[in-house]
Amino acid sequence: MNCNKDILFIQLKRYSNEEAEKIKMAYFLAEKLHEGQIRKSGEPYIIHPVNVAYILTELNADADTICAGLLHDTLEDTNISKDELTELFGPTVAELVDGVTKISGMHFRSKREKNLANTRKILSSLTSDVRIIIVKLADRLHNMRTLEFHNLDKQKEIALETMEIFVPLANLVGSYWLKNELEDLSLKFLKPDEYKRIAELSHYQETGFYFLLEEMKTKIGERLKSEGINSEIQRRIKNIYGIYKRFDEGYELDTIPDLLALKVIVEDVKDCYLSLWLIHDMYHPLNCRFKDYICTPKSNMYRSLHTTVFGEGDKLIQTRIRTFEMDNIAYNGLTANWNLKNNQERIDMQKYFKDNFKAYNSLREIDKMFTNNDEFIEHVRSELFSDKIYVYSPKGEMIELPKGATPGDYAYLIHTELGNNMRGVFINGVPAPINTQLKTGDMVKIITTGINPSIVLPDDVITARAKRKIKEKQKK
Ligand code: MN
Repeated sequence: MNCNKDILFIQLKRYSNEEAEKIKMAYFLAEKLHEGQIRKSGEPYIIHPVNVAYILTELNADADTICAGLLHDTLEDTNISKDELTELFGPTVAELVDGVTKISGMHFRSKREKNLANTRKILSSLTSDVRIIIVKLADRLHNMRTLEFHNLDKQKEIALETMEIFVPLANLVGSYWLKNELEDLSLKFLKPDEYKRIAELSHYQETGFYFLLEEMKTKIGERLKSEGINSEIQRRIKNIYGIYKRFDEGYELDTIPDLLALKVIVEDVKDCYLSLWLIHDMYHPLNCRFKDYICTPKSNMYRSLHTTVFGEGDKLIQTRIRTFEMDNIAYNGLTANWNLKNNQERIDMQKYFKDNFKAYNSLREIDKMFTNNDEFIEHVRSELFSDKIYVYSPKGEMIELPKGATPGDYAYLIHTELGNNMRGVFINGVPAPINTQLKTGDMVKIITTGINPSIVLPDDVITARAKRKIKEKQKK
């Protein structure tokens, strides 16, 4: 949807009066500064920052981030200075706008070099203030929504960059609605025919199974209620790009196990597990598809129970069970709780992010390790943006690693000493070569003594952290 000033101002009711006033002030300044500028669509330029700000309010971003969203193009495209912004809106807003500007405003000899350096800037801003990324994601979403006004070459170029950089970033910060929309919009411009074909198929499938899913919804809702559990149950179909990817993996529409899903939202964790039991009691579960992300959250803080059951008409239906709080985080990610009453929620969450977010730490490792932009980005792709595997420690903890990781990567992730003293490994109780690629579900036990010890070398590992630690050890 295209948002205007009035719609944005209505959204501001969710903020304190003081915050709303500050945001309005940012709006009126942006309007004045961009006066006379026109977008490719022919509309006044201010439409763009207003939509960016609106998207940010949907993400529950805090007031400073909304101000930065409104002002994000003023340093680059108008004659206001960073000092003036600091004076008017304080240092945080000015830093955020400056951060967003620096990402796109650099000049380089070749386009390729520029792109690489730019990408590195975008990724590195995750480590300074993650809000720069949040503004950039909202900026990109609105640009993708209005991409039709560019020529075909430009459309493809922007869509490709979105797929390669911004989709993984949305995934990293855990904002699934934004990620799904960016994926679908990218596919629409990269493969228009495929997009149309799958959109029709998925619409057909959705209407075809509407009654079946509604029946399950009702039955599950009633059963939970009879056991004293309040729930809200929603239907969902996989996004178009998600289906496209499954086709690519060789699935047929009928065999995609998570094509159709029900989301069961309940009040607390106890109710999640009780609901799981009740649902399994009603519909046979497909045991191999059960996942407990409540006890072992994903690194982007996603928590939920996933189970695939033989639903009504023996159709495979994925069921996701979670609390309202978990659902908010699954939907919005990192920014889920930001505008609640005071800034403490945001500060806590940002701290949580920095302490627990494994991707953030590996990003810093990669940044330290590679001065060459090419290598930096290649490593970010293979470590941060790649698919993940989940293995178990001997104590049963679930450890997330990038696909392709080996026991050496695992050992150095757990502890430097464990990596340095590693002499061998047992995978699922059986001795294995130390450069074995681990798979999801593997139980990994590192051996630190042995008769025929083998030593981990840089080529035996894939993560920047493990490579750096091994090189440091070799120097000694
Ligand atoms: Mn912009």
